[in-house]
Amino acid sequence: TAAAPVVLEGRNLTMRFGGLVAMAEVDFTLRQGEILGIIGPNGAGKSTLLNIITGLYRPSSGSVHLAGERIDGLAAHRIVGRGIARTFQSSRLFGDLSVLDNVVIGRHAHIKSGLLDAILRRGRAQAELHAAAEHAASLLKAVSRDLYAQRHRPAAELPQADRRRLEIARALASEPRVLLLDEPSSGMDDADTDALMADIRALCAQRPDLALMIIEHDMRLVASLPHRVLVLDYGQKLAEGTYEEVRAIPRVQEAYLGR
Ligand code: ADP
Ligand code: MG
Repeated sequence: TAAAPVVLEGRNLTMRFGGLVAMAEVDFTLRQGEILGIIGPNGAGKSTLLNIITGLYRPSSGSVHLAGERIDGLAAHRIVGRGIARTFQSSRLFGDLSVLDNVVIGRHAHIKSGLLDAILRRGRAQAELHAAAEHAASLLKAVSRDLYAQRHRPAAELPQADRRRLEIARALASEPRVLLLDEPSSGMDDADTDALMADIRALCAQRPDLALMIIEHDMRLVASLPHRVLVLDYGQKLAEGTYEEVRAIPRVQEAYLGR
């Protein structure tokens, strides 16, 4: 992936909350087709980085560039529209809606909830609804055949691992070129984590241009899935490189891997 173009870049990102510096002068690049792992202890600034990229937080200083264009300061739904989608650390599914409908509304999941109601109420042409459902079904299949088979169940009935998969399928509904996953394996056992990892790998193989950032605490996943790893600690970039490179750095071991 070394020759692939840079799709997303953060320059000198700093985020202050009152007196707390949650992120200090962090740079990163993400190339087309690349999987970048983000690791670091609790409170290191990992979710803050995703919140800055997706426009939920406006950085105190620094900039974010998508395919060369500056996107920091844009509203979150505009950033989704430009091609960045994410999942959250805690589930944000609509439990009463079917698995399929959760993906259908994925295109609109990041806009204000009042608008979402309006979209659902407005009623659309049959053909448009049908096309949206077909597209959603294809995304479910791309993420997991097993999830597709459960497409008519209410999302709340899914086991935890499938809810995570559904969140990924829903994020894909906005047709992103960059997908950001915040701790996708949290709360899962090793078997579920391995199965999810296999599905993410298969998804990336199907979409070789998709760029991924994955915040992860499961070291088995970090060791095998990302091409490169960025290590954060107290809002600072501690290291960046392949997993083998960063794990060899004593400060990284002290800060994180040793725990
Ligand atoms: P991580 O995801 O690495 O566990 P976070 O990015 O969630 O860490 O948090 C980094 C630091 O920033 C923490 O000290 C957290 O309390 C703080 N923080 C994050 N978001 C906010 C916010 N909206 N207001 C105040 N402090 C915040
Ligand atoms: Mg977090």
